[in-house]
Amino acid sequence: MATDGQKKVVVIGGGIAGMEAAAQLARMGYDTTIVEKQARTGGNVANWDHLFPEGRLAGEVVQQLYQKLSPVRIITGSSVKKADMLEGQYILTLADGSVLTTDALVVSTGFRTFDAHRKEEYGYGIYDRVITSADLEGMLNEHQPLFPGRHKGPRRVAFIHCVGSRDEKVGNRYCSKACCAMAVKQASKVKELYPDAEVYCFYMDLRMFDRRYEQMYLDAQAKSGVNFIRGRLSEASEDLQGRLVIKAEDTLMSKPLKMTVDMLVLMVGMEPASGARSVAEMLKIPVGHDGFFNATNELLEANCSGTPGVFLAGTCTGPKTIPETIADARAAATAADAYLRKKS
Ligand SMILES: Cc1cc2nc3c(=O)[nH]c(=O)nc-3n(C[C@H](O)[C@H](O)[C@H](O)COP(=O)(O)OP(=O)(O)OC[C@H]3O[C@@H](n4cnc5c(N)ncnc54)[C@H](O)[C@@H]3O)c2cc1C
Ligand code: SF4
Repeated sequence: MATDGQKKVVVIGGGIAGMEAAAQLARMGYDTTIVEKQARTGGNVANWDHLFPEGRLAGEVVQQLYQKLSPVRIITGSSVKKADMLEGQYILTLADGSVLTTDALVVSTGFRTFDAHRKEEYGYGIYDRVITSADLEGMLNEHQPLFPGRHKGPRRVAFIHCVGSRDEKVGNRYCSKACCAMAVKQASKVKELYPDAEVYCFYMDLRMFDRRYEQMYLDAQAKSGVNFIRGRLSEASEDLQGRLVIKAEDTLMSKPLKMTVDMLVLMVGMEPASGARSVAEMLKIPVGHDGFFNATNELLEANCSGTPGVFLAGTCTGPKTIPETIADARAAATAADAYLRKKS
């Protein structure tokens, strides 16, 4: 409940960006509410297993963020349907018809993973053993067996980078940034679980941009024994034994390559959250040709939407890792605070 004169902030989206921004704003003394469309906070990270670079459990990270939310009001299973400006305040109408007033908004609607069905030639949704990186995280997180009913583990597993990213055919020219490190993390995990399996990563080029990621990549080769092949998958099919046959081109050797594998993991990229466009229209947030939100000044005001009192946090402005998302959320909270201090 807001005390007299206490300013209010509503955060749309309760993933890690929204949670961190809300925690910071509450700590600064604002009456803060999160509106999350799912039944729980945590966003995508709540579905993941161990996190790169340090191998921390995703559930623990989400729990740690959640513990900072005690002063924050959390509305789950809802979304903002309408926003009107009246005398310097936003009047928000939620899906159930209830109304919230607020002095500022932080939008942290995040991302969804690329729908791998759109790359029909890779066989997702056609062959059971073709899964996505998000599916694999979920299976590991829920301790599901990766190869149910098999006494022996897999003989061979392949990871395919850049699925739905850097791909003109699907309309996504951008790099999703986190999935090279994610592939190294997941390939090493599969090797840890099944030391006798051969594990291959097929990449276009490796973008191990963080100071610690290069070491993860070197360890994946030298310690875990993951093989890296520079090449792009052209198609996957199933043989009579139910194993997957993949065709690719080894672009370093300039040779076509055919391999039989027991599981194919597609490293799906990040796309703007479903419904992000209607949030953008409602709050007049500029949107890039790729659907991610654009800030007014990418270099110096990366969290400002251009609409007075509306700030942007996390992956709604483009792919980010967890540390980048948290830093961005804090910056959004600081920008909202600067705006609210100036507001009479
Ligand atoms: C398979 C996979 C594994 C990954 N592993 C790692 C890792 O090990 N280490 C690492 O650093 N990064 C990892 N990442 C990246 C990490 O997931 C992101 O950095 C993080 O999820 C970004 O958080 P976010 O809050 O911006 O977005 P999200 O996690 O997408 O959260 C957004 C939230 O907003 C909600 N929402 C959306 N629209 C609305 C709306 N209109 N109204 C209300 N609520 C809404 C959503 O339901 C969601 O809860 C991984 C990514 C993938 C795909
Ligand atoms: S991070 Fe790696 S796998 Fe992901 S889109 Fe960029 S180059 Fe491809």
